[in-house]
Amino acid sequence: MAARGRPAAGTGDPVTATLVFVGGGPRTVSLLERIAASATLLGADEVVVHVVDPHPAGGGRIWRRAQSPLLWMNSTTEDVTLFTDDSVRCDGPIVPGPTLYEWASALQVRPPLERNDFASREVQSGYLRWVLDGAVQALPDSWRVVEHRQSAVDVLDRDDGAQVVLLADGDELVADVVVLAQGYLERRPTAAERSLLDAAATAGLRYVPPAFTADLDLSGIPAGEPVLVRGFGLAFVDLMVLLGEGRGGRFVDDGTRYLPSGAEPVIWVGSRRGVPYHAKLGYRRPTGPVATRSLTTALIRSGSGVLDFRTVLLPLIARDLTHAHYRELFAAHPERTRGGWASFESALDAGDLSGVPAAVPDPADRFDLGLIDRPFDGAVFRDRTAWEDVLADHVRADLRRRADPAHSADSAVFDMLLAVYGMLVEALLRGRISAQDRVEHVEGSFLGLFSFLASGPPPRRLQQLLALHEAGVVRFLGPDIDIDLCDGSFVASSPAVPGTVHARTLIDAHLPRPDVRAATDPVVRGLFGRGRLAAEQLFTADGSPLPGGQLLADADCRAIAADGSAHPRRFLLGPSVSGSAGSAGFARPGHNSPGLRQNDHVARLLLGLLADRAPAVAGAVPSPRVKEYR
Ligand SMILES: Cc1cc2nc3c(=O)[nH]c(=O)nc-3n(C[C@H](O)[C@H](O)[C@H](O)COP(=O)(O)OP(=O)(O)OC[C@H]3O[C@@H](n4cnc5c(N)ncnc54)[C@H](O)[C@@H]3O)c2cc1C
Repeated sequence: MAARGRPAAGTGDPVTATLVFVGGGPRTVSLLERIAASATLLGADEVVVHVVDPHPAGGGRIWRRAQSPLLWMNSTTEDVTLFTDDSVRCDGPIVPGPTLYEWASALQVRPPLERNDFASREVQSGYLRWVLDGAVQALPDSWRVVEHRQSAVDVLDRDDGAQVVLLADGDELVADVVVLAQGYLERRPTAAERSLLDAAATAGLRYVPPAFTADLDLSGIPAGEPVLVRGFGLAFVDLMVLLGEGRGGRFVDDGTRYLPSGAEPVIWVGSRRGVPYHAKLGYRRPTGPVATRSLTTALIRSGSGVLDFRTVLLPLIARDLTHAHYRELFAAHPERTRGGWASFESALDAGDLSGVPAAVPDPADRFDLGLIDRPFDGAVFRDRTAWEDVLADHVRADLRRRADPAHSADSAVFDMLLAVYGMLVEALLRGRISAQDRVEHVEGSFLGLFSFLASGPPPRRLQQLLALHEAGVVRFLGPDIDIDLCDGSFVASSPAVPGTVHARTLIDAHLPRPDVRAATDPVVRGLFGRGRLAAEQLFTADGSPLPGGQLLADADCRAIAADGSAHPRRFLLGPSVSGSAGSAGFARPGHNSPGLRQNDHVARLLLGLLADRAPAVAGAVPSPRVKEYR
């Protein structure tokens, strides 16, 4: 993109304000879009924006173009937008723009994508870059945006209030305002992972701790060897793709049969549940966002103090999900119910579920959160073949059910889960959930259930799982798996399935649990070490400190320091930041996305700061090596 506008910052121009983004992923793209929407209204007219990221800005690390084209997004194309629409309640102007589906259709992206398709990460990379380029173009002419294709290694505070962002190549950017939008932070291995790494090294085995799957070097895993995989979620799906098709195998017969290349290992997968996440729904009900009935805004906004997750919030969540399921069943499929909705609803509201078997005769139509969460809890199988057959049937049944609008109650539960998630975010932002409950329950058990039910793989991936299983490339370990290291190999077992499986490689297939204290990123480590950033300090009931926790920011996303003060010109957003709205994914059109609202709010704060900037702060000095795209 041609550079335009005024000369580079750092020329000593006293009226040029400087904004530095550390991280050029989707969060930064959306912030820039929101900044562009309000820039002329808020009068910040001489600004240089630096975007620092070792990966190309737009996609950043997760959505970079340079990764296997076999990897897909996990959202349908119509469910991804970077733009505000009339549903978004924010102060900045609404500037509509295309969803991923509309963008890909207009550009006639190959292969063509339907609304309900899952684009490759490569395609999403293009969309993000396009949104970024549009936002840059929409900024006032006097603004300049400079991309630095490298890491930031520290952020220092100067006495005059400016911040100095140090780059890996030694360049320095002097900033009036800094936004840290660094996404998922890499972390040192936990003690358990460390000891597994050490024990594996001693025994000559390979242990792969939790990581971003696309970044793993899997080339050392030999063909035909068993590999144990702990985790049956999305990281597993990526792994299955990279070790299957990524090794040259091919799906034929519309993805139902797999022709191995012979270079694949044998992937033995297990987890606590023992089953893969539910497939994404293959149909849509014509509904917009739904409202919670029990876990309401009124409850969250009234009163003060924390609401206990297990005793207060969880029963309300369960009630909302149960109500959503049965309301849809009674409304859309009354032939499968007995008696009227009104009396059934009254019983539900009173917490009385005793009438469910009579009112809903088919067990497949009943909502049992415990059973949904742990479908094979306590089950024991005769032998491994029996277990693997049952699991394959379970996946087939899931694929049928998730594609069948006759089970639209599942879709109602999905919508309600999103609404509940929004309520929990609000409760977090209002300080109504304790730090410990947040980590243990909101980000632990609830997010686990949410991912299992609402954020599973595209159906086609489960079809591929079955095909890989039939070809002998993927095998199933069982629920509640246990891994030991003995006699020179990893040994996997499940209480539900007789026998053990031995392997020389063990992979933990999930993202690392956030722990700011263990972050390897030099910016976060430096700021945290000097007390310029803080993380929640969590304690067990007996008062001993717990590991884990996210970075702290105030309600305006200003970084909080160890002394509790909020830095007026340093902002923190994204999945490693406490209570960060919408950090779990892209905004859905028509859903008043919390992420878009938060970005709009922060963008306007940034503009206010840039407009008011003290003229004493000198500009930044871009290196001649950086790419300027405006
Ligand atoms: C594998 C994976 C798949 C996902 N799929 C989906 C999906 O299908 N749908 C969905 O809605 N959500 C998905 N998500 C959720 C995802 O969090 C968001 O889509 C989004 O990427 C978050 O944007 P972000 O900008 O906050 O963080 P990121 O995308 O992580 O971007 C942060 C950027 O900061 C950069 N950075 C970090 N430290 C530094 C530093 N010191 N110096 C310079 N740059 C730095 C990184 O290189 C990175 O580019 C997925 C997440 C993962 C991990």
